[in-house]
Amino acid sequence: VALEKAPTSWVRSTCGYCGVGCGLYIGVKDGKPVYTKGDPKHPVNQGTLCPKGLSEHEIVNSINRYTTPMIKKNKELVSTSWDEVFKTTSQKFKEIQEKYGNTAIGVISTGQLLTEEFYSLGKFVQLGLKTNNYCGNTTLCMASAVMGYKQTFGSDGPIGAYEDFSHADVIMLIGANIADNHPILKLHITKNKKTTGKKPTIIVVDPRFSKTANMADIYVPILPRSDLALINGLCYIILEQGWENEKFILERTTGYKEFKKHIFENYKPQDVSNITGIDVKDLYELARVYAKAEKATSAWTMGVNQSSIGTDTVSAICNLALITGNIGRQGATALSITGQCNAMGTRETGFTSSLPGYRNFASSYDREEYATLVNVPLEDVPTKRGYSYPQIIDAIDRGEIKALWLVATNPLISYPDQNRLRNALKKLEFLVVQDAFKSETSLIADVVFSAATWSEKEGTYTNSERRCNYAKKAVEPLGETKSDFDIVLEFSKYFESVNEKLFPSWSEPKDAFNEWKKVSAGRLCDYSGMSYELIEELGGIQWPCNEKYPKGKARLYDEKMPCPTDDGKAKLLCLDWKPLAETSNCDFPLILNTGRTVEQWHTRTKTKTISILNDLAPEAWIEINPADAKKLEVSSGDRIDISSRRGRINNIIVKESQNIRVGTIFVPFHFNEQLINSITIADFDPKSFEPNFKQCAVQLHSFKVP
Ligand code: SF4
Repeated sequence: VALEKAPTSWVRSTCGYCGVGCGLYIGVKDGKPVYTKGDPKHPVNQGTLCPKGLSEHEIVNSINRYTTPMIKKNKELVSTSWDEVFKTTSQKFKEIQEKYGNTAIGVISTGQLLTEEFYSLGKFVQLGLKTNNYCGNTTLCMASAVMGYKQTFGSDGPIGAYEDFSHADVIMLIGANIADNHPILKLHITKNKKTTGKKPTIIVVDPRFSKTANMADIYVPILPRSDLALINGLCYIILEQGWENEKFILERTTGYKEFKKHIFENYKPQDVSNITGIDVKDLYELARVYAKAEKATSAWTMGVNQSSIGTDTVSAICNLALITGNIGRQGATALSITGQCNAMGTRETGFTSSLPGYRNFASSYDREEYATLVNVPLEDVPTKRGYSYPQIIDAIDRGEIKALWLVATNPLISYPDQNRLRNALKKLEFLVVQDAFKSETSLIADVVFSAATWSEKEGTYTNSERRCNYAKKAVEPLGETKSDFDIVLEFSKYFESVNEKLFPSWSEPKDAFNEWKKVSAGRLCDYSGMSYELIEELGGIQWPCNEKYPKGKARLYDEKMPCPTDDGKAKLLCLDWKPLAETSNCDFPLILNTGRTVEQWHTRTKTKTISILNDLAPEAWIEINPADAKKLEVSSGDRIDISSRRGRINNIIVKESQNIRVGTIFVPFHFNEQLINSITIADFDPKSFEPNFKQCAVQLHSFKVP
């Protein structure tokens, strides 16, 4: 570090980007973060960080930050006071609710806040504003994992731990490009040889030969979104060959008879081969390798979740793990990897697909228990889930929802089928955006609640292995910005008696954390044994943490811990592959796959001002197989357009690559300048409401003069 930039103090904290949850130190000088380095003692990353983590201090004083609250006057957003934005917004919300009813307000949050902030926000929205039309942008990335776990095990909650990667004999990554999206997880895979004495067999299932596929011993180049059929086909072969773990199936699962019948009737290897594009003999070999492993770990992320059959694909992966007994043992699990740093916080503190602590809206016992714990009248607790994210957008389009409050999310880049979204948003009477950063969406807001960001506030993030990490405040919030916790508490004071009722004498995030501990006590996601001090001391704690598990628990549903189903057993479910909503034809002959790159984060609100990241990934590109490029008479470096039935994007640079299969292309979704979500399809999983981001039919347009 150049001497003039050398930090004068170091603050131990947690990365605020992705769901891996790396521990780090923030170097501070003159009240500003100037350096970030990995925490060598943190069990997740052991001192390492990816490029985003290493440059994270640069987001804090970025020119893309808001420094004051903003209000629209004469069609322009101008700086104002907190009192004016809170007064204007509360008046508008009250007017709308009086005229159209409480649920005419929709709220969409994020996976970026701290758990204390989610808990306070959800409580305020549902019990204070009394609208249950509350959801998170997490619906765009991991709602299918939530619903898949729920239908198989009776509750959401990732069941494994990162250490399972270090103990497995076989690791199967399905639709999980961890090298780009969760790079530090690779550490746990490379540690495996040291732990087990031999190299594990790594299987990568992905239609695209991603950076992660470079690690594979067996690469399975399935046709786009045929993973559910593949998994069912593997189950067929395992059952046919007698490779299943019958003792485990009988003792720990239900539905075996129906499941076996369903698989034998519908997923014969030749049929599966036709759907997946994988040879029958390769299917047999794959099934053998997985089934014969003493310990097999499977993990997935967006390639599975972001699909209109995502929920069932998640449960199919769990079926495969269950019939081979690969659940609840070190090295044997089925782990969903989350996207954002605190996607888990939204899942657990709830108010979206469940009430806090994974309580069911439909259960009067759960509602009563929650009402008693937080001392609110039972009738205030919603009896059913409100609209999910896509349903909120549709309700805006129908004129049913009149005001929208967006928290740290930027749908004008991240939501599919942008034209449809823009048309809906135009119908709003009032748009509030709460964000630390300027975004495409904040520019069209009526008011902006300017938020503090990572390192400027205190609280906890829970990562993909249920590890609750402590994020310490290192510096004061920039300008007049406020933490999301303070925004919620102070905004609630503009609604008669709401603050006193919901947040009595709360002043710091710890107040929310203490209530959350009480609310989660005895639930699957039990935080009651945690404290900020203990979390810091242990380098994070994996819930449940209580008297029985004072230091947390690495994995769920082992022999001592039954599933939260009626009979304590996991369900083997009969699930079916379905064809894509939109297949290729002569007008749109290619299938578009969208995804990410390691250097950028989501819609780039954080990363677009970090020069090192932008030098590495300055713009979007089209990855295309040389055979398709030849047909179109284009080559690497040329610029072309892409269109679908929903729109057209101009001037994207071509990158020929053998990594992408013929008939498909790949484009990262981060970039406003080449907004790929203008052409993606609004097709959703009916159980999770997660969009099918990964496949739609497109055409390429070259302008080369022959
Ligand atoms: Fe941060 Fe994720 Fe990178 Fe770790 S892997 S440093 S949590 S972005």
